[in-house]
Amino acid sequence: TDQSLIRNFCIIAHIDHGKSTVADRILQLSGIIEEREMRDRFLDRMDIEQERGITIKSQAVRVPWTVDGTEYTLGMIDTPGHVDFTYEVSRALAACEGAVLLVDATQGIEAQTLSNLYMAMDHDLTIIPVLNKIDLPSAESDKHAEEIANLIGCDISDVLRVSGKTGEGVSDLLDRIVTDIPAPQGDPTAPARALIFDSVYDSYRGIVTYIRMIDGSLQSRQRIHMMGLGTTHEPIELGVISPEMQPTKALAAGEVGYVITGVKDVSQSKVGDTITEDARRAQEPLPGYQDPQPMVYAGLFPIDNAQFPELREALDKLKLNDAALIYEPETSVALGFGFRCGFLGLLHMEIVSERLSREFGLDLISTAPNVPYEVTGEDGTMHRVTNPSEFPEGKIKSIVEPMVAADIITPKEFIGSVMELCQDHRGIMGTMEYLSPERVEMHYRMPLAEIVFDFFDQLKSRTKGYASLDYHEDGEQSADLVKVDILIQGDRVDAFSAIVHRDKSYSYGVMMTKKLRELIPRQQFEIPIQAAIGSRIIARETIRALRKDVLAKCYGGDITRKRKLLEKQKAGKKRMKMLGHVEVPQEAFIAALNTG
Ligand code: GDP
Ligand code: MG
Repeated sequence: TDQSLIRNFCIIAHIDHGKSTVADRILQLSGIIEEREMRDRFLDRMDIEQERGITIKSQAVRVPWTVDGTEYTLGMIDTPGHVDFTYEVSRALAACEGAVLLVDATQGIEAQTLSNLYMAMDHDLTIIPVLNKIDLPSAESDKHAEEIANLIGCDISDVLRVSGKTGEGVSDLLDRIVTDIPAPQGDPTAPARALIFDSVYDSYRGIVTYIRMIDGSLQSRQRIHMMGLGTTHEPIELGVISPEMQPTKALAAGEVGYVITGVKDVSQSKVGDTITEDARRAQEPLPGYQDPQPMVYAGLFPIDNAQFPELREALDKLKLNDAALIYEPETSVALGFGFRCGFLGLLHMEIVSERLSREFGLDLISTAPNVPYEVTGEDGTMHRVTNPSEFPEGKIKSIVEPMVAADIITPKEFIGSVMELCQDHRGIMGTMEYLSPERVEMHYRMPLAEIVFDFFDQLKSRTKGYASLDYHEDGEQSADLVKVDILIQGDRVDAFSAIVHRDKSYSYGVMMTKKLRELIPRQQFEIPIQAAIGSRIIARETIRALRKDVLAKCYGGDITRKRKLLEKQKAGKKRMKMLGHVEVPQEAFIAALNTG
């Protein structure tokens, strides 16, 4: 395809503002999907995406669109909207020349609208502002069009109005994409350079690598070279997605497509790497991406330890889809063999656990999540701590925790409750701006640890769902943190140790000891359960000894009932873990860790 006829764009929006719905409508209008094949959110292929209604992986689809008798080739990249997946958005942006900024006409600008917009501006993309859901009676299109025009500095009449649901305005949007977004500007004759912006594992095809051709072209029979990894491959297939995979003979400058190299090893197709032709290699790789930094760490352990090798394999496969996921083997006295994993945030962690159980059939326990800390011991040695078990023993000179800059958008009547919530979470207020007479944007600096856990849920409940949140890294700060250990009969149970702020250490200790007292069944002897900071006990509960034999309840008579009881006990035993002399049911760990 001639580059002047190509337009590559992505759709960016706050979650639920209708990206996937508008993308569906575009597929339909362009004729590549027939009405009868249409299902909701066609591009959200993963089950979890369909169920949760969120887009996790970006998808790249080619759609034809004709303006004044000329057929153009549009490369459309759908992007995820959740804050945990910001880095996937930035990868998609690097493959485009323009962005459709979609805003729900009933909601207006939200926190991720802003963060996505700023990212798109950083990439020098042409922005097309669009109000969606204008079919809804509660849409306030004029008001929000003005908000958007003020924000990006355009005319109110430049803000398009569409409905992904009815399709109204969507063909005008496609026309605008052709007229406003610049064609790609790569050198079509230079040695090939293609940016790998995504890479997915497909159980039938193996590894499918999504690329954006910047310079030159690739032919299907030509050997390719990955500049970052330094490896060479014979591609099995080159192609474009429209809306399913279609093999092509070549991909030329400006085009978005895929390549299948047949590599089985998941580490051999690195997102951000540059592909060039082997015979005529490019001099310089493309800028690529910064590797995303995991911000939340937790241990994942198979409930059945025999599943450990399967867990490793499953993580290897997920990793290909998900450059942000990191993991290394870990052993726990209480939970056996597992992996310490790093995630971008809590949603990311939930999705990974859910995929491990759903797609790979693994039953897992996860330990309470924590953020990374830098701990300096009294002797001046510094430790990066991503696991409470790495917290140095003895005296500590200082602890540094990661901070974030949080932007919260809320209707003005909730300013008071948002301030209170942020204060409770050690937030320091910065500036506050009015977006419109009714809505404000508030800026806070907060410890990441305070924001990643239940902050978002609390923000939503205190503002009746109206507030939105976005945050990004903002350096670090020293903090008064301690490690709280939980001891069962004097033995520390590694899976329950947590790094918490000193002010909250007492309540953590009390909560965990109480919970374990309820969860661990009584045994032949008394079991003390304690919470401790170092050698200092801060909370204690006792499980009293069990006197009566279980069978005593059966009055000797009913033999089948007795046998049933014994069998039940035996089955229960299998799922017991021994901690010293204490038998702890697997369920107790799961329950105790669940609400951690
Ligand atoms: P995404 O998170 O931005 O991908 O949003 P979705 O496309 O999943 O849409 C979120 C919700 O808004 C879904 O329930 C859609 O059916 C609904 N929706 C999207 N666009 C429109 C629209 O134009 N009109 C109406 N009434 N609902 C819409
Ligand atoms: Mg979506």
